[in-house]
Amino acid sequence: LVVLKSVNKHFGALHVLQDIDLTIARGEVVVVIGPSGSGKSTLCRAINRLETIEGGSITIDGKPLPHEGKELARLRADVGMVFQSFNLFAHKTVLENVTLGQVKVRKKDKKAAEERARALLDRVGVGAQADKYPAQLSGGQQQRVAIARALAMEPKVMLFDEPTSALDPEMINEVLEVMQQLARDGMTMIVVTHEMGFARSAANRVVFMADGRIVEEATPDQFFSNPRSDRAKDFLSKIL
Ligand code: ATP
Ligand code: MG
Repeated sequence: LVVLKSVNKHFGALHVLQDIDLTIARGEVVVVIGPSGSGKSTLCRAINRLETIEGGSITIDGKPLPHEGKELARLRADVGMVFQSFNLFAHKTVLENVTLGQVKVRKKDKKAAEERARALLDRVGVGAQADKYPAQLSGGQQQRVAIARALAMEPKVMLFDEPTSALDPEMINEVLEVMQQLARDGMTMIVVTHEMGFARSAANRVVFMADGRIVEEATPDQFFSNPRSDRAKDFLSKIL
């Protein structure tokens, strides 16, 4: 579904993505882990075209990423993204947050969009918050609204960039549970996270990045019990 071939990216002299080759099949859940600065966020942002790439190619369903205009808006709908900071529209209600893109980008009528929004808000457990503004919600609730907003667009793939790292500990699980459920429902997901419990239970594959490269790819079992590279061993010894 998502194919990256020799993707490269520099920030000035810094080579943040170095010959990245990665293929994500439909329904697959790939967890990306690695030290700070290894290029995980840049990788996610490139798939959504929030960053341009310098060499290589990224395709979704065999089509190269569009550069601009309506095509780009559609790409951002096809590739749902959930960030560390929830990025909701502060001056719109929860319901409006989840309705807006469906009407603007997917051209749904308002009533159908609201119906879908309410169903999704129920599904992530924040149905009762529909008429509130984001600031009136807890971090965990806001993040679940952000997930519902991305799902409302009927994405082909969902990218999560450390979705729980800005949350208080007691709110982390409610967000991870929503993600677990999504994974079980067959959503294609790329998840950057330090939540190793999630990686073990939900991931089909772990991708370990360091210094802009994919150093190791393995099943969670292989990776956590028997990492091959010294970089991965060193990383795991610090976080487990
Ligand atoms: P973290 O775990 O801290 O989120 P990361 O693996 O997501 O790290 P990236 O955010 O992809 O890492 O950043 C990779 C490198 O690129 C870092 O050294 C970072 O400082 C640098 N970088 C990221 N964005 C920019 C930018 N817009 N301009 C310049 N340098 C950048
Ligand atoms: Mg990051």
